[in-house]
Amino acid sequence: MLTVDNVTKEYPTPAEPLSVLRGVSLSLDRGESLAIVGPSGSGKSTLLAILGALDRPTSGQVQLGTVDPFALNDMNLAEFRRDRVGFVFQDHHLLPQLSALENVLVPLLADGKPTSADIERAEMLLGRVGLAERLTHRPAELSGGERQRAAIARALVRSPVLLLADEPTGNLDSATADSIGRLLVELQVEHQSLLVVVTHSEALAETMQQQKRIEDGKLLEN
Ligand code: ATP
Ligand code: MG
Repeated sequence: MLTVDNVTKEYPTPAEPLSVLRGVSLSLDRGESLAIVGPSGSGKSTLLAILGALDRPTSGQVQLGTVDPFALNDMNLAEFRRDRVGFVFQDHHLLPQLSALENVLVPLLADGKPTSADIERAEMLLGRVGLAERLTHRPAELSGGERQRAAIARALVRSPVLLLADEPTGNLDSATADSIGRLLVELQVEHQSLLVVVTHSEALAETMQQQKRIEDGKLLEN
C-alpha cells in the first residue's frame, strides 16, 4: 500500500520559494491504479518523482508498505528505488548504444552479470509487450511506441511494487497510445503492482480505478 500524507514541495528560487505541491495526500491499495491529470507546470512530474523517491518532499510523509523511503540512509534509498519502484519516463530514457534486450537487463546489473534466468525473464517481458522480434534492435531502430513498450518492460524487470509512468503515451498517435495504455493496465493487474500514471489522455485516465487532478498544488477528485 502507498500512502502520501500532506506532502509539500517548494523549489528554492532567487526570489521567494516556488511552492509547487501544497499538501498532497493519497492512498492506494495493492493492485490499485491512479491517474493524475493537470495542466502543464502543475506539479505532476514533481509528485511522481517524490512517489518514486527520486526527489525529497519539503514536508510530509510517503510510505510504501511499511517503509518510509526518506527515512532510509543513502544506500538503502538507492536499493529502495531499484527494487521497489519501476519508472516509465515520458521520453523513455533507454540507453542508445544498447539493444532492447540489453536495456531491459540494465536494472538487473546491480546484482552482477545477468544469468540465463535473467535473460529469459527480459525476453519474456519483451515478448509480453510485443517486441519478441525486436530484441536486438537499438532504440534508434525502434518506433516511438516500441521504445515506450521497451521502457515498460524495463520498468517491470525487477517486479516493482510501485509502477510509475509519466505521460507514457504523450508523444504517440492516439491508437498507439490506447494500446500502450491498455498494456500498462494489463501488466499492472498481472503483477498486482500499484500503478500511478500521469496523463493528458482522458481515455487512459478512465482505465484507472482512481482519477485525480492537480490544481493549485492540491490533489482533487477528478
Ligand atoms: P508538464 O505537464 O509540463 O510536464 P508538470 O505538471 O509535470 O508539467 P512539473 O515538472 O512538476 O510540472 O513542474 C512544476 C513546477 O515546478 C513548474 O512550474 C516548474 O517550472 C517548477 N520546477 C520543476 N522542477 C524544478 C526545479 N528543479 N527547480 C525549480 N523549479 C522547478
Ligand atoms: Mg511533467
